[in-house]
Amino acid sequence: MNVLLLGPPGAGKGTQAKRLEETYGLVQLATGDMLRAEVADGSSLGVKAKAIMEAGSLVPDDLIIEMISDRMARPDCATGVLFDGFPRTVAQAEALEKMLRAKEQRIDLVIEMKVVDESLVERIVGRFTCPDCGAAYHDRFNQTKKEGVCDVCGGTEFHRRADDNAETMGKRLSAYHKQTQPLLPFYDERGVLRSVDGMAAIDDVTRQIQAVMDAAQAGHF
Ligand code: ADP
Ligand code: ADP
Ligand code: ZN
Repeated sequence: MNVLLLGPPGAGKGTQAKRLEETYGLVQLATGDMLRAEVADGSSLGVKAKAIMEAGSLVPDDLIIEMISDRMARPDCATGVLFDGFPRTVAQAEALEKMLRAKEQRIDLVIEMKVVDESLVERIVGRFTCPDCGAAYHDRFNQTKKEGVCDVCGGTEFHRRADDNAETMGKRLSAYHKQTQPLLPFYDERGVLRSVDGMAAIDDVTRQIQAVMDAAQAGHF
């Protein structure tokens, strides 16, 4: 089963993807994380992407499609992928459809995470992660159990993204509305779009997504 989490920056895609990966044995494929790794490596893709990401714009489709197509060729993607932050444009969605069709697969389910714009800014500015294990936290909504210590690995150094500020967020939101939202009718036409209330508490969102996933797996669409 190939599943796509679709929602604006800060909707909770990464948080939920981490949980679903374990429950459903899917591989999380997050283009934002992959791009940040390229930037950290100083690869030619990373060099091209860095300023674009910091400005809050989308990295060009051809670069993203090439990165994804390399990743999808690896054997761990054979049984099912959980896409997080990709596709973000209709051109990317069409390219993905083609890649999957070649493997006689398709996107089986698209889960839209609905969150109002006003809440996204406070989610983004309070976001921090543990660089050692990737755990994601929030200053108010998802604190570490012990202050300054990662729940998962005990790490004590945390990271905040350069683009997680109120100014850049305006650009990222307008990119979402202009370039990514057209994917909602795109997938609705294909009969695979379902929505959950992303404004609910984290555990509640997980339950809503699991209900949608279980129904899709059982063929009860
Ligand atoms: P968010 O937490 O805002 O959903 P991501 O980590 O998914 O952010 O992405 C961070 C940045 O990386 C984006 O603002 C964009 O510049 C770039 N990016 C990530 N995925 C894509 C994509 N599929 N297409 C174009 N740009 C992307
Ligand atoms: P995305 O991957 O869509 O950009 P994240 O999963 O990184 O979003 O979530 C953004 C921030 O909001 C994180 O700090 C996370 O802890 C927090 N968060 C995620 N889901 C919720 C929720 N349902 N309610 C409140 N805060 C949330
Ligand atoms: Zn950690």
